[in-house]
Amino acid sequence: MSQVFFGGSIPTRADLGESVPAPLPRPPWLKTKLKTGPNFSELKGLVRGLDLHTVCEEASCPNIYECWEAKEATFLILGDKCTRRCGFCDIATGKPGALDKNEPYRVADAVSHMGLNFAVITGVERDDVAPKTVAEIWAETIRAIRARIPGCGIEVLTGDLKGDRQAIDIVVDAEPEVFAHNLETTRRLHRKIRPGFRYERSLAVLEMAKQRKPNIPTKSNIIVGMGETFEEVVECLTDLREVGVDLMTIGQYLSPSLEHHIPVDRWVTPEEFSEYKRIGEDLGFAWVESGPLVRSSYHAGKQYQAAAAKLGSRN
Ligand code: SF4
Repeated sequence: MSQVFFGGSIPTRADLGESVPAPLPRPPWLKTKLKTGPNFSELKGLVRGLDLHTVCEEASCPNIYECWEAKEATFLILGDKCTRRCGFCDIATGKPGALDKNEPYRVADAVSHMGLNFAVITGVERDDVAPKTVAEIWAETIRAIRARIPGCGIEVLTGDLKGDRQAIDIVVDAEPEVFAHNLETTRRLHRKIRPGFRYERSLAVLEMAKQRKPNIPTKSNIIVGMGETFEEVVECLTDLREVGVDLMTIGQYLSPSLEHHIPVDRWVTPEEFSEYKRIGEDLGFAWVESGPLVRSSYHAGKQYQAAAAKLGSRN
């Protein structure tokens, strides 16, 4: 049966009469080392005891030990069902429940209980609700965290809010430390891999945020290993710099399932990741985090510090 989602459906390989591809054997550089420290252990205990939910745990992020040791964590808002369906994403697609107006305060409570230094807030797409209504939840989440834990840095990783300038202004006016929106893949692959998004609209979202508040760093992410070429990744980096994006993360795609998600096309080598970093820095990004296990919230606090220092000197 097709995976049904809001606004259409994506056939599985079985629907298309395709065989499920064999997984590519993983290269040695994708192995992670378990490095638990005192902060990680303390947070782990707190999260269990208080029944808090983080994307870090639920997505089995390979960087959880390092991020939690730095007292940084990621939360998902706007519900647990997305109205879009991206070929790499493991979040359930479907008709979401009503927006929860208390969610911002629950997230702020969780950030406070965990004593975080830096919180990344991400969310599903809510095409069932007006972009400005969604934007108010984003803004209220920023304000609620700020009120509870004034010293905690906040990065919001939003959807495209349908490219609605007023909605983007509402989020940016709440003054997160970082405004992020992920391009995720190249211009050519966008329609296939992110059918609910448009490459140019995502660039426009980042440009609008930068125009509204030039001092707030903007950030984006690309996942590689989904069929793109080296030159297409460089095109993304160039396009993102043209709309003033300050921070960049690039990481390897790991397919959540062979049946429902696009297969891994190739394992990008550490040398190629280093080359993207070098090119990104030459293009003028304040910080480029590029490596096989990099995820968009990896080293979020450090990235913010780098961008703040650079923007401070630019303005
Ligand atoms: S919009 Fe975001 S949450 Fe929704 S399917 Fe795409 S990547 Fe996943």
